[in-house]
Formats: sequence, C-alpha cells, structure tokens
Amino acid sequence: MKGLIPDYLTDILDEVRDVTDGEVPDYIPALAEADPAWLGVVIHTTTGNTYAAGDDLAEFTIQSVSKPFTYALAMQELGIDAVREVVGMEPSGEAFNEMSLEKEAKRPFNPMINAGAIAVNQLINGTDSDVDDRVEVIRQFFSKLAGRELEIDASAVDGEMEGADRNLSIAHMLRSYDIIVDEAHDAVISYTRQCSLRVTLHDLAVMAATLANGGIQPVTGERLLSEAVCRQTMAVMASCGMYDAAGRWMARVGIPAKSGVSGAVIGMLPGQLGIAALSPRLDGAGNSVRGVKIFENMSTDMGLHLMSTENIAGAHAVRSINRVGEDTIVTIQGMVNFIGAEAILGVLNQHNFRDGRIVLDVSRMVESNTMGRRMLKEGLRRLREEGHEIGVIDPDGGLKQRLMDDGSQIPLVNENEG
Ligand code: GLU
Repeated sequence: MKGLIPDYLTDILDEVRDVTDGEVPDYIPALAEADPAWLGVVIHTTTGNTYAAGDDLAEFTIQSVSKPFTYALAMQELGIDAVREVVGMEPSGEAFNEMSLEKEAKRPFNPMINAGAIAVNQLINGTDSDVDDRVEVIRQFFSKLAGRELEIDASAVDGEMEGADRNLSIAHMLRSYDIIVDEAHDAVISYTRQCSLRVTLHDLAVMAATLANGGIQPVTGERLLSEAVCRQTMAVMASCGMYDAAGRWMARVGIPAKSGVSGAVIGMLPGQLGIAALSPRLDGAGNSVRGVKIFENMSTDMGLHLMSTENIAGAHAVRSINRVGEDTIVTIQGMVNFIGAEAILGVLNQHNFRDGRIVLDVSRMVESNTMGRRMLKEGLRRLREEGHEIGVIDPDGGLKQRLMDDGSQIPLVNENEG
C-alpha cells in the first residue's frame, strides 16, 4: 500500500492543475524564467517522514519565504525582546514593499514585509558584521534547516539589484531612523542574497516542519531554534505571512504560513507537520493562485485548521499488533486524523504481515475525522490489493461507514472472534 499519501497529494494537484489565473512576476528577471506550469506539493512530518507529488524537485529562489527563518535566527541570536525593539508584529495592511513604519515606535510593522525583513537581516551576526559574513551565517543556518548545503543564485541577486529602487528606498528610510546602520546598498544586497537562496519544496517542507517541531530538525535531530522562538515565529506568520490576504487565509486555511514571489507557499501545523507548495502564477495580493487553493483544499480535507475543534492526534496511534490464531490484529487508539493515520500507515507499511487476515481493531479509537477514516480505509483496501484478507473490529461504528473507494465494504469482524 505504499504511495497512499503521495497518491492523495497527486489528487490534490489534479484538482487545481487546470487553473491558469494569475501572472508570473517579472520584476526580478530570475522569476520570469520559472515555468508557469510548475506545480508541486511536499509534506514533511515532525516524525521525519516526507511525501511528495508533482514538481517537488524544481529549484527556485526562496524569496520572501526566507523571512520567517531569518526572523527566527535573529531571535535565537539576540533574544525575542531585543528583536521586538527593532520590528513589530502587527499586520501592516499594506503591500509587502510599502515604505512605512509604525507611527509611534518608528519601527517596521512586522518582519514579513520588506522593511521588517531588511531590518531583521541586519541583526544577523551583529550589526557590525560585513555583508559576506552575515550572508554566510544565514546560508549556513538555512542549510542546517534544510538538511543540505544551499547555494545563493548570484545571477538572481544581480538581476534583482538592477531594479531594486524600492528596497533601496526602504533601506534609506530605515537608516534615517537609525533602525539599521549599514549603507542602504549593503543592507539591500545582504537581504537580496538571503532571498536568492536556491531551494526545492523538500527543503521548504522540512524547514517548515522544523518550526512545527519546536526547533528540532526532524531528520538530523539537531536543535536549531528554541521552542519559544518557534512559537513567536509561527504566531507572526499566522497574522502577517500571506501579504494582504493574511486575514482571509487564517479564516479559510487556518495555519501559520508564508508565501513568496517565486510562487512558493509554506505552512505548518504545530507539533505535526510542515507543508510546501509551488506554482509560480500569483494573484493580486502576491500569493500563488494554485498554491493557495492547494492549501485551502488540503486544510478542508485533512482537518488542518488550528481553530477547528478536532483533537490533536498523537504519534502513537497503533497500540499493538498481535497474532491471534490466523489473524493479525492491529489495535488503533486515540485520535485518527491525518497525522494519526499517517503514523498508522507507517507502522502497517513496515510490518511484515504473515498469511491470514489483517484485522484493524478501531474500538479504542477515541475520535476520527474524515481524512483519518479515509486513509485507514484506503490503507486496508491496498492491503487487500496486495493479497491480504482484511477486516475491521468496529463495535461502535467509529469508521462511520465501511465503504471503500472501489465500492466494496470492509468486512466486519466480531470482537470476540480474535
Ligand atoms: N526579494 C523580493 C523583494 O524584496 C522578495 C519579495 C517577496 O517574495 O515577497 O522584492
């Protein structure tokens, strides 16, 4: 039954594949080279599993998706309070490249708009650092987050610098209020290099999963950020991460997120997973048209919304696997939503089933959502396809219905039979 989650992700991509709304931005020459047809999505769980579909290996510049991670690094280096002196945490209600500051405090509204991001970039490695050293610290940190060496796209930097008047104006404004000390040109070069790190969706998904995991990179196991820094970063992403559409995003999708002009969108469900999607055509607010739809569909399907009242599943959704006579009984416990079912499918995939029936006992399942039940049923269907006889112990009707995608029913097994 391998491939169940990637198959689901492919379905998710198919739902939006024909949408051609939006434009690929060309104000940065490197962005105009993107293939508008690129479409991909990757999930990375905090337990270190990854699932991908579509153009998951396409490389692109990270752009604004870098902002939360540099913000996190600054807080890790200097402390949350010190960074708050420099940049606020309120949505600006303006375009990402607006030349604006908070009226009273004279600091950028938040670290997700360019004014805030340029100010935050300047904090890394100390305000007296030269540009090369600062950018190298950022590159190394991002590489640790991604779990591989990332590189800066020098030609993307050069191209963006040729038309960087707006960002230069922002840097001059920041300097005039003593928010940064570097020359405006140095500040913008430093920030633009940060934006020009080349990444894939796999990189972004595991980076998002590291925030969701409280700062421990799920694959390498290295602690890169404190839990407090991750919480602060995700909180600001939740209110300011999606340009001017952050409010609508929170209502419809309901998870912390950040998008960028290269068409990437990342989001994460704290404690559970990171998601990254890519599609280069952007809407009027600057967000990937299909990227937003992908997240909307996944949030509805998978029950990701943070304000939903569904319970959080643990990673220990399989209580036991026992051989009883000719049957192998797999006992499920707790909440079965996406992450619960993902853990169960992972255990089933690794288990070496012997001959005889595979019976899923869901009588200890406390709660489930549509996605969790759908995944369990599809998992059983695939086990049957592989030649196993299947069944379910479900005295309380926890699965709601036993109909599988192919129209057949999962046979009910009597509790006392095992
Ligand atoms: N480097 C881009 C800029 O400053 C990033 C913009 C974005 O992704 O929102 O214009």
